[in-house]
Amino acid sequence: MKRVRDVGEFGLIRRLERLVSRQGAATKGLVAGIGDDCAVLDGGRRGWRWLVTCDPVVEGSHYAPGTLPRWIGWKAMARNLSDIAAMGGVPRWAVVSIGIRKSTPVREVEAIYRGLTAAADRFGCRIVGGDTTHVEHEPFVVVTMWGEVEARRLTLRSGAMPGDAVYVTGRLGGSLRGKHLRFVPRVGEARWLVSHFPVRAMMDVSDGLSSDLRRLIEAGKGRIGFDIEAANIPVAPAAHGDVNAALSDGEDFELLFAVAPGQADRLERKWRQRFTLPLTRIGCVTGDAGKVVLVEKNGRRRLLRSGGYDHFATS
Ligand code: ADP
Ligand code: MG
Repeated sequence: MKRVRDVGEFGLIRRLERLVSRQGAATKGLVAGIGDDCAVLDGGRRGWRWLVTCDPVVEGSHYAPGTLPRWIGWKAMARNLSDIAAMGGVPRWAVVSIGIRKSTPVREVEAIYRGLTAAADRFGCRIVGGDTTHVEHEPFVVVTMWGEVEARRLTLRSGAMPGDAVYVTGRLGGSLRGKHLRFVPRVGEARWLVSHFPVRAMMDVSDGLSSDLRRLIEAGKGRIGFDIEAANIPVAPAAHGDVNAALSDGEDFELLFAVAPGQADRLERKWRQRFTLPLTRIGCVTGDAGKVVLVEKNGRRRLLRSGGYDHFATS
């Protein structure tokens, strides 16, 4: 019998997607469904699209027992804000479902909410409802968020073309040492990017760069590949110079995106004038379909396998 760990998180999602695709309900108004950071829907303001995303944090999977409740709330909200950012969108509304033990002190739940509202307020998102349930074992917080984006600024994971320059914001790796709880979602940076540059493809780095590059390839229907310059990968101090950690740790919640090569110089110049956050060109999109190649300083090329985070893979 096939178990979830045999197919992995992404194998499982592909199977579920096949089931969903056989649904009878109408798809009118659906611009993009499973496979991007958010679902994209018609029906909002003229010229705008709705973005919808849903991400949980579960004790033991996304935070350790004993984590400060405020950071649990912050992370739960920020993960979703990061997915709205990844589409170039503006966060608007959220509903929050919490599962808590009966013995949990009320002030702990309130502290989770202070974290949720702090993250939401910082980016203009309002909590408008949710659900409360009790659990026997692991507590969780699930946020479902709506955002909006102008149709012309909507940025999907698909759309990267051979020759495009590939960038990441911030620094990658070692996020388990603290950043995974306290990260700042790149909402402002993403809005600025899609407002000033024709960003061809974008996503947030949640599963690790090596794995998320594969997601961009899948979204590009497998027609593209990447050459990534190992020496250019910005390694976070928490990863102690370990490029592998930067490639595969995950939960960085930085932006990964592609722009036409002709835009690269202007982008880098304008970015430096606007932000102190690093922006690094890590490589380029190639026509070598399906291949992520790590190019080392001496020119050696090695194929990079997807080593990012998979919730069900056995180690
Ligand atoms: P992200 O890390 O950006 O939140 P995921 O890797 O979790 O994205 O999910 C990838 C895609 O699969 C998304 O479009 C998401 O909506 C979809 N997805 C994930 N889990 C499920 C599920 N259980 N049912 C339907 N769609 C899912
Ligand atoms: Mg995402």
